[in-house]
Parts: sequence; structure tokens; C-alpha cells
Amino acid sequence: MTTPDPGAHIRQLALDCGIPALGITSVDPLPEHGAALRRWLAAGNHGDMQWMEDTAELREHPASVMPDTKSVLVALWPHHPPKEDIPPDHGRIAAYSYGRDYHKACKKRLIALCRRIEDQWPNTATRAFVDTGPMLERSLALRAGLGFIGRNRALISPDFGSYCFIGVVLTSLDLATDTPPVSQDCGDCRRCVEACPTGALTDRDFDARRCISYLTIEHRGVIDAPLADLMGDRLFGCDTCQRVCPHNRGIDTKAEDWCDTGLYSLNIETVLGWEDDRQVTEALAGTAIRRPKRSGLVRNACVAAANRQLTNTLVLLQNLADTDKDEVVRLQARQALGRFKKTP
Ligand code: SF4
Ligand code: SF4
Repeated sequence: MTTPDPGAHIRQLALDCGIPALGITSVDPLPEHGAALRRWLAAGNHGDMQWMEDTAELREHPASVMPDTKSVLVALWPHHPPKEDIPPDHGRIAAYSYGRDYHKACKKRLIALCRRIEDQWPNTATRAFVDTGPMLERSLALRAGLGFIGRNRALISPDFGSYCFIGVVLTSLDLATDTPPVSQDCGDCRRCVEACPTGALTDRDFDARRCISYLTIEHRGVIDAPLADLMGDRLFGCDTCQRVCPHNRGIDTKAEDWCDTGLYSLNIETVLGWEDDRQVTEALAGTAIRRPKRSGLVRNACVAAANRQLTNTLVLLQNLADTDKDEVVRLQARQALGRFKKTP
């Protein structure tokens, strides 16, 4: 079956599959974005995210992942904004992780869309990605007219602000790319640069090695004391550069139920007491917060306990420092104890 405007029909199919915003762009390479990524990597800004280096070439050329790709569909889903107040003995988690694991929730919806497309246009190839494929998702979203990329490096959608997930479908359907780019930028605003607690953001650049999102989620080693001092009570990710963005003010995201499991923070003492990955999996089942595993989460809790000066955690920290099987945890707990002692 053919339809007069496949793009419009696909947008309707997307809505039916639980995808509230969809842009269509070409499969053309992204040379400017690819070059910027290569410069960024060459400066070492990616820290130990070796996978970014390994996939840089693929990211610039969307067709390299699926050679018969003719068009790229880019999907957005809104999530809830960060909560301001959390209990005093808790640590913050990023707003995008308040819900069920977005990789699975979004991918399920993209796969449903792929099946509908394949039913409608037999012999069409499709392939779906949510954050795990070698894609320049924000660049594709920009070209698909879904928003602009802010100084905080987030995609900023006119509808959802930056509180959104991005998913990508490659398809062999040759579709009209009828969505003009959003012609907007940050103008003179520098709020995110000024608010970033660690100086990871500058006017022109972003150093992931100083970013709390990277440090709490992707980094595998001990977090150096000067950076740990600046991390506050963040246990998983950081929302500061999005929270201050004027484009997120007054946004009614209309996020779906799967974006809210009721988990907005974690008790720091509880996290310090997790003994293995099985306990972490049980406590955080179905969420994206498990990614740093027990080692990373307990390390982050050591940092947060010291920053919050939670004296009720001192015994636990001492035990971790003395006997934990994980060297990163041992060293981070020792550092945390030292930072307690310096406080009068
Ligand atoms: S996520 Fe936090 S640490 Fe990272 S750039 Fe934004 S404000 Fe800075
Ligand atoms: S806070 Fe200002 S500079 Fe930063 S992304 Fe938002 S609009 Fe751009």
C-alpha cells in the first residue's frame, strides 16, 4: 500500500505507537558535527569513554550502520523536570532516571513503529536505536527540525525544553525531509556556564572529565578530591545546566507514566550499605540508575556523604575504607573520611 504523503502517515503511526514528536531527516553525513566530535575527542575531553573514540567515524555517517538507509526518523519523548527538594539524608538522581529505563521504554515504542512501517511498506528495512547505537542523536534531531543544541550541549525542543529522550530509526524508505531546522540559539545567555558546579562547561566547550554526569555514571575510577568537593549530593547524573535554562521554564512536559516510578532520590546510608551488584539490581530494578553498578554508586555515595557531612555514615565509611573488596570504594571511602575530618 502507498499513501500520498508517507511522512505524514509515519508521523501518525508514531503517535499511535506512543511517540509524541517525530522529525524526518536525510541519511547524509554530518561532516561539521563529525569534525567537531573529532576535535573534542582529540583534546581528550571524553575521559575514559573509549567507545566514543571507537565509534566516531560511524557516528558521522548514519548510513554506515545500515547501508540501504535512505531516511532517518528522529523521535522525542518528554520526561519530568528535576525535583527541587529531597530529604536531607538523600542524594540526588538525574531527572531522566525518575522513570523506567528509557532505553527499554523508548526502544519498545520505536520497534512498534518499525513493525508498523514494515507492515505498511513491505520489504522496507528499519533499525532502531536509543542511546546505544553509534549515532549523533542531537545533530540528527537538529537537522530533523526538532530543536537546537544549547550551550549546555542538550537538545532544546520548543515543546519539551531539554527534558527529553531522543531515539533514532534508520529506514530504507526514501522520505521527504520536510521539517525545517529550528532557527534559534542561546543568544547572550550563559546561565548554564555560570551554574555548572565543576566548570565542565565553557562558552565554547565541554569537558566531560569535569562533568558530574560523566563522573557519577561513566567514570570507573576514584573521583579526585577537588572534583568530589564540588559534586554536592549527586549520586547519579546532574541536572544543574538544564535546571537553570530559561527554555525549561514553565514547560508542561506531559511526560507519560513510565517516566515516573516515584523514585527521585536515594538514601545515602542505604547506598553505602549495598554489598553487591545483585542488591543494586533488586533495589533499582527497571531503572537506568543501575549503570554505574555497585562500585560506582557506593563510590558516589561516599562523595555525597562527605559533602553532606552525614555523621551517621561514619561507621559505614570506615568499614568500607578498611575492608571493602573493591579498591575504588576503599579509596573513595578513605578520601571521604578525610574530608569529614577537615570540617570543624
Ligand atoms: S551536567 Fe552538571 S556538571 Fe555536567 S555540565 Fe551540566 S551542570 Fe556541569
Ligand atoms: S541556559 Fe542559556 S546558554 Fe545554557 S543552554 Fe539554556 S539558553 Fe543556552
